[in-house]
Amino acid sequence: MLTSTHYSNIRMLSPDGILMCRLSARRARWYLDHGLASPEGEDAIRLTFEPNGLGANGHTFYTSAHEDQCVVCGRPDALSRHHCVPYCFRRHFPDDYKVHNWHDIVLLCDECHNGYEVVAQSVKNSLLKVPADELAGRKNTLRAIKVAHTLATHIDRIPTDKIVEMRQYLAEFLGLDTVTDDQIVDLALTDRPCLLSDDDWKRIVDDLDDIDGFVRWWRQHFVDIMEPRYLPTGWSVDSPASRKEFDQCVGR
Ligand SMILES: [Zn+2]
Repeated sequence: MLTSTHYSNIRMLSPDGILMCRLSARRARWYLDHGLASPEGEDAIRLTFEPNGLGANGHTFYTSAHEDQCVVCGRPDALSRHHCVPYCFRRHFPDDYKVHNWHDIVLLCDECHNGYEVVAQSVKNSLLKVPADELAGRKNTLRAIKVAHTLATHIDRIPTDKIVEMRQYLAEFLGLDTVTDDQIVDLALTDRPCLLSDDDWKRIVDDLDDIDGFVRWWRQHFVDIMEPRYLPTGWSVDSPASRKEFDQCVGR
């Protein structure tokens, strides 16, 4: 949840007064504090050195002012940041796709955010390449650890016939005829496996032939499902996905 204004929309100008991009107030303050820029009215800073290029000049999204509102319904409060490309994938992208790229982070109100995440989660799950037997194995292990933990901590509250049943279940899980109290405690203290691990998402990214296409697919999916009416000016499914593509777009 964001508790303060999200977009400060401070304009960053070249020494010649050309709009290079929009900045957060915090970032603008950093330039001022380091003597790299001087204030230009209330909502702009002007660089005091000759930059290597004109920043995002030429790309509407990065030079336009953005509103603090849900991009779907326009609500101005209860906002949080949404990664159009799910973070579980994006975090495994090459740096060129992650540096200085906030095009794919948009603001959503809680209601719209929750609504889309349900749909996105089912898509993410459909992309998983975890073999069914491996997933079943993780579930069995997790269940056995939970049963062992229950036996180890709440045995005085469990009916006798249920205790017998649970011990038998654990014996079968461990491939034994019977299970000792020590074995139950050992199992109860075992680290619980995640049903899905970070490696499972990484494997999907590693196998991608076309990261740019993957990024655009998620943007289009978000647009198709949510039909956002308040996307920032210049936001586009076809916007550059990487720094390299961005540089080409602005003519570097
Ligand atoms: Zn909304």
